Amino acid sequence: MKLALFNDNRLGVVDEDNVYDISSLVGWDFERPQESLVTFMRTYAEQDARIRDALRQCPVLALADVRLRPPVPAPSKIVAAPVNYRLHQDEMNQQFNNAEYTIEKLGFFLKAPSSIIGPGDTILLPFRDRRTDHEAEIAFVIGRDAKDISEAEAADYIFGYFALMDITVRGKEDRPWRKSFDTFTPIGPWIVTADEMMNPNNVDLRLWVNDEVRQETNTNTMIYGCYKFLSEASKVLTLKAGDIVTTGTPEGVGPIQAGDTVRIQIERIGEFSVQVEYRA
Ligand code: MN
Repeated sequence: MKLALFNDNRLGVVDEDNVYDISSLVGWDFERPQESLVTFMRTYAEQDARIRDALRQCPVLALADVRLRPPVPAPSKIVAAPVNYRLHQDEMNQQFNNAEYTIEKLGFFLKAPSSIIGPGDTILLPFRDRRTDHEAEIAFVIGRDAKDISEAEAADYIFGYFALMDITVRGKEDRPWRKSFDTFTPIGPWIVTADEMMNPNNVDLRLWVNDEVRQETNTNTMIYGCYKFLSEASKVLTLKAGDIVTTGTPEGVGPIQAGDTVRIQIERIGEFSVQVEYRA
């Protein structure tokens, strides 16, 4: 199932070119979307069949006519993987000489949840004189609290998957500073539930700036796959239901500038675009 937040944070099921508004069906409080999402995920297994049965009786809108919102609007944290693809480590060493270690020694970093924006929104660049890059990543939302879980158990704690851009100022500051500016975490276009995603560690991932393909890989080249990364992070902290985990970027990162359109696409998830402007 593809679950979108749209317009005034209503909950919709995306089916081809349509969005079915299931807000009333599931008791969704669109003034408290994050809390509603956590409740929805907890009860999804019992609700799944009922939703599918009732879908055609729900209000329907054309996908082209709705404004998609960030599918996870306000997590308690975003846990992010540093240097989780070998070829990205190589390019960082060649260009900046600053990727000595991979995820195996770096662990994880945190991005500010206040940096989240949605499809069609605008990345605001804080600096005109510093390189700021796109990073294309596959991310997921935690369905129930996860602490000290094994790699084999990890799939049971992941509710669904989406595409994420980890926008990054290059430089010597720590990662949370360089990656937490407002608007630096576009996510979307919707959540694809884990059952529909099947294996997240073997999907194609692409990112374009305007019409140019900048990043293109398969997630099977990650150093830590989604399950391994979640397991390792859960040894440190409790991943709360509704938290976001993002898994790092492949090679091909590069600068974005005002006027650009950045598009990300992941197999079995879909795609979305954002604009780029300078902050006033
Ligand atoms: Mn990243």
